[in-house]
Amino acid sequence: MTQTSGAYEQSRLTPDRLARLATRVETGGDRPSIPVQTPITDTEIGTIPACSDDDIVAAVDRARQAQSAWAETPVESRAEIIERFGDLVDEHRDNLLDIVQLETGKVRQHALEEVVDIPATCSYYASNGPAELTDSGRAAPIPLLTSASVTYDPVGVVGVISPWNYPLTLSLTDAIPALLAGNAVVCKPDERTPFIALALGELLEEAGLPDGLFQIVTGEGAAVGPALIDNVDYLVFTGGTETGRTVAERAGRNLIGCSLELGGKNPMVVLDDADVETAARGAVTGAFTNAGQLCLAPERIYVDEDRYDAFLDAVVSATENLTLGHSFDYGPDIGSLISGDHLDSVREHVDSAVEGGATVATGGRARPDVGPNFYEPTILTDVSPDSRIICEETFGPVVSVVPVSDAEEAIERANDTEYGLNGSVWTSDRDRGRAIAREIDCGTVCVNDPYAVGWAAIDAPMGGMGDSGLGRRHGPEGIHRFVESKTIATSRIGPLDTPPSVPHSVTARALTGLAAVQRRLSRLIR
Ligand code: NDP
Repeated sequence: MTQTSGAYEQSRLTPDRLARLATRVETGGDRPSIPVQTPITDTEIGTIPACSDDDIVAAVDRARQAQSAWAETPVESRAEIIERFGDLVDEHRDNLLDIVQLETGKVRQHALEEVVDIPATCSYYASNGPAELTDSGRAAPIPLLTSASVTYDPVGVVGVISPWNYPLTLSLTDAIPALLAGNAVVCKPDERTPFIALALGELLEEAGLPDGLFQIVTGEGAAVGPALIDNVDYLVFTGGTETGRTVAERAGRNLIGCSLELGGKNPMVVLDDADVETAARGAVTGAFTNAGQLCLAPERIYVDEDRYDAFLDAVVSATENLTLGHSFDYGPDIGSLISGDHLDSVREHVDSAVEGGATVATGGRARPDVGPNFYEPTILTDVSPDSRIICEETFGPVVSVVPVSDAEEAIERANDTEYGLNGSVWTSDRDRGRAIAREIDCGTVCVNDPYAVGWAAIDAPMGGMGDSGLGRRHGPEGIHRFVESKTIATSRIGPLDTPPSVPHSVTARALTGLAAVQRRLSRLIR
């Protein structure tokens, strides 16, 4: 039974609204209910069905049926619907912010980052996607006598498995290019944060997306994930590295493509010429956005020893000015963690660092007086290079600050990890920053910004190296995942073989001569 919580009363939501959203999940009969809690108060805000394997198969079937007509719809018409959806997200901003905040416990300005991201992604792909999907001519083996071109067919049905930390952005940011490319999407949001994906499904329908093209299935990942992966044609997964390995193994067995956006242990490098106040502001924004539950957040800061003391003072002082709390208006700086289990995991990371000799420069405590799952923004120093806090993702409001002797040591330490998602370099010389960025083994490296400048460059690919994942979202790469490239090659002279009346030795001379001319021509063109 759904209990109302104080959180509901503060928001503009009602239990009925969330209950109506839950009815959008189609099941073949009564299914067990999964309770959904708000981390703000740990009280139940609604329930969702635990879909069965048959429900997943039926959702993919409905998606597949709708997809063939959608693939025939001109891409310009598909782009109009995507653009209209972006407008609707913007129009319904307040309502969406309330749902995101209630489900995740994040503060309003951090929820806003999610809400503004979707219209921008819609506009980008509505404007640039059609050109990426247009047939393109390619160099053919014998100019004039042969030709080659590439067409891009949708893969079919794309599965999206999304996490709880950015449930709005990460349920839709990949679905948008997938739909634009002519696919259907079946999305499985995290069981802790299902309502925002359901609300977005409602808006896609209002934008004119034909029935069946965007389906939502709900349930525990380990229970519904396998059936989803076994039935879709491509899978996008965003979540933890270990789950990513399980998902990739299954996708591999099914020989379907997948992209994996996984965890990180993101380094931030503060050089000897960095402006300390700017770098400290960036560290605080980056490490504590969404209470640190951001895959791109810096968790390790390597600071040139000449700047270390001044940087540490500035970052500690800026952190101590942050306010913890919850409000459905813009107010507090840092919100709740997602759950008690996650709070315990963050606390364990900090406690084990302290047992290993780390010093808490500020923070380091849970704050039950603010709410059941709040943890203070925390800065650690004196951490050892092989401690958990340096090697494993914490995914909470905790960052370690480490002095280094020079840029070379900073790069070496930054790269001393299995992860490679996002890094940043801080310097007053941007050229130097870009040169050092090239040395850091991450899918994205930002100069003088912790993450937003890289994420918001939607035209540029984003993703991880090593244990941080496979494949890229955003940019042309982000839509090419969702199409099969098909080459159509044509000969004007029939089969490229030896005509019966010509001796093989003559053909051999002609072929080698032709190849030599081609090589010479291509060198001239270069
Ligand atoms: P999980 O990997 O536990 O969960 C992510 C999603 O996978 C959830 O929807 C979950 O469902 C589902 N899932 C769980 N087990 C399986 C399975 N066996 N098969 C298929 N799906 C499954 O990660 P978290 O939810 O804890 O998310 C945090 C992690 O995500 C962090 O490591 C973070 O770094 C990473 N992340 C990466 C991002 C990126 O872009 N690189 C962005 C955001 C987060 P359910 O929970 O409902 O059981």
